Amino acid sequence: MSPSVLDRRRCDRARLARDARFDGRFFTGVLTTRIYCRPTCPVKPARSRNVIFFPTAAAAEGAGFRPCLRCRPEAAPGTPAWHGAAATVSRALRLIERGFLDDARDVDDLADTLGMTARHLRRLFLRHAGASPIAVATTRRVQRAKTLIDETAMPMSAIAFAAGFTSIRRFNEAFRAVYRRPPSALRRGRRRAAERRRSGQSVAGTVATRQIRRASLSMLRATIAAAARNTHASANAAP
Ligand SMILES: [Zn+2]
Repeated sequence: MSPSVLDRRRCDRARLARDARFDGRFFTGVLTTRIYCRPTCPVKPARSRNVIFFPTAAAAEGAGFRPCLRCRPEAAPGTPAWHGAAATVSRALRLIERGFLDDARDVDDLADTLGMTARHLRRLFLRHAGASPIAVATTRRVQRAKTLIDETAMPMSAIAFAAGFTSIRRFNEAFRAVYRRPPSALRRGRRRAAERRRSGQSVAGTVATRQIRRASLSMLRATIAAAARNTHASANAAP
């Protein structure tokens, strides 16, 4: 977005609404404080007559404004910090996909591996994946189990552990939370289909698990990419 296409009225509406779609697309300079902010700044917005808009952080600094310490313009979308955070979350998603949180390790261990605090990692996840690391891991386990229920004739207890659950109780709880019924209820009606496939079941089960792991990972990556694209698209359409 070049300075000539910044629409003052739209920018003002976006910052008053703290519209996250505009984050990284422009910066607001507050004339009374000489501080510049992201559109999403949590601080009470300044009066419209006291603000000026810049297309980049560099433009704001060039005009003598200092970056806000609350909304941290250096971490806005499109900045190296933002890309770094997205890359960190992608890496964490890959580790979760490979079962990092399925054994005795927890989010603290995951954060350690990535060289940050668990609190910071949770914050990055909410921003870039829209869910906590635990929620991502649980959803993946339920998805893996669902595939095994559909594609194999494995007993429920075997499916629970193959999908990464540490106990049958957790398996049942997670399933009820997502499907509002126990896992066994999902197999009824699928039994005949499973029997037809029985000859190749163990191979099919392994292949299905691998396939769903791969499919889900690329889905999560696509979600992050789409989120980044949306930020750009809405900004480009903004003025
Ligand atoms: Zn701010």
